[in-house]
Amino acid sequence: MALAMKRAGGDDLDRDDVMPPAKKTMKPLTPTWEDPVAALANARHEFGEHGGVNMSIEASATFTVMEPETMRRLFSGELGPDRDFFIYSRHFNPTVLNLGRQMAALEGTEAAYCTASGMSAISSVLMQLCSSGDHVVASQTLYGGTHALLTHFFPRACNITTSFVDLRDHDTVKAAIVEGRTKVLYFEAVSNPTLTVADVPELCRIAHDKGLTVVVDNTFAPMVLSPARLGADVVVHSISKYISGGADVIAGAVCGPASLVNSMMDLHQGALMLLGPTMNAKVAFELSERIPHLGLRMKEHCHRALVYATRMKKLGLKVIYPGLEDHPDHTLLKSLANKKYGYGGILCVDMETEERANRLMNLLQNCTQFGFMAVSLGYHETLMSCSGSSTSSEMNAEEKALAGISPGLVRMSIGYSGTLEQRWNQLEKALSRLQDSNLLHKN
Ligand SMILES: *Cc1c(COP(=O)(O)O)cnc(C)c1O
Repeated sequence: MALAMKRAGGDDLDRDDVMPPAKKTMKPLTPTWEDPVAALANARHEFGEHGGVNMSIEASATFTVMEPETMRRLFSGELGPDRDFFIYSRHFNPTVLNLGRQMAALEGTEAAYCTASGMSAISSVLMQLCSSGDHVVASQTLYGGTHALLTHFFPRACNITTSFVDLRDHDTVKAAIVEGRTKVLYFEAVSNPTLTVADVPELCRIAHDKGLTVVVDNTFAPMVLSPARLGADVVVHSISKYISGGADVIAGAVCGPASLVNSMMDLHQGALMLLGPTMNAKVAFELSERIPHLGLRMKEHCHRALVYATRMKKLGLKVIYPGLEDHPDHTLLKSLANKKYGYGGILCVDMETEERANRLMNLLQNCTQFGFMAVSLGYHETLMSCSGSSTSSEMNAEEKALAGISPGLVRMSIGYSGTLEQRWNQLEKALSRLQDSNLLHKN
């Protein structure tokens, strides 16, 4: 539509006049934020070029203008995506920007932009917020890749160092902040894989008091928690997990203030523009079609995880699930969570030894078809992994002990395919086979 209009309209300066806003956008009457699903329904809906209910895919690497002078104005930043002017798709692309608007609505931030992976979203935003010599305070329970980035890569490649702290110990968090040098407090809303819940409002108060920017990874709890609504400045996501839901795409997002997102696209200083972890427009389109049912999917993931966690605990297993009243963060999660989504779709069962963990996973996959042995999460099938020897294997034994990762910890991302009872029977059957061989751990 843009090009047809541009030609019909003649020169570039007329663009605002020839672009009928009523057709292009549906602005909400009252853009208030109630919860993520309500916010998504209030977000701008982009129609297709021919009036399609779905947007068109802007599969162009580069964009043309009617007059040479417009190019100068594009590069000076005078004209930009807010007025429907685009330069090149490593910079803003309309289809990726549309997914960014959905992500911003989901997380209740002013803006968002999507990237080629969760790791590129995390590394780019931290490199944007920190310069050589700066310091980060981070939780000691982090996704293994993020932990390695902060421990090994940043000190070597960027001279950015990190102190890891126990987030529950607020005095330690405060003490780790070096005034003038610490720029970011970084943590996961629900941490991988031990499912500890961060006290987002209190941690934000501590960090903001010292002028830090708070960056929260919300990969484990989209819909369930809205960290930006609880005080966080920036929310990052691995879209590869729940938001995609298909285990077929690697993608990420940075959600935060428009000034931050724009700075990341700066032609001279922008981490996204210059490091180039660009999302393809066709991928962005596919993902944008999945976000409308994210709320429904999360509710079912969470519902089943709660049912299985409750029943497994009754069988005498050592279950870690923040939806259970005996989880140390249950009350906190209840007070922070958006209502009616649940307590997350991941549960862990501590089998104590890696041998027991492997035996259980083997039975679950190869005898009863309960799920697949695979890392990652958020798929419609249940995915199981032994965290200590897989996604957290970048950590050494001492770091794992500090993070509370037992060698027999099995993480399960509970799927929603099949019926709840059908899957429970498969789980129960595998557990009873374990018991036959005296391997079921009783607590
Ligand atoms: C998977 C994951 C990442 C990394 O995301 P990719 O999309 O795989 O790059 C970061 N944080 C958490 C919590 C994750 O689970």
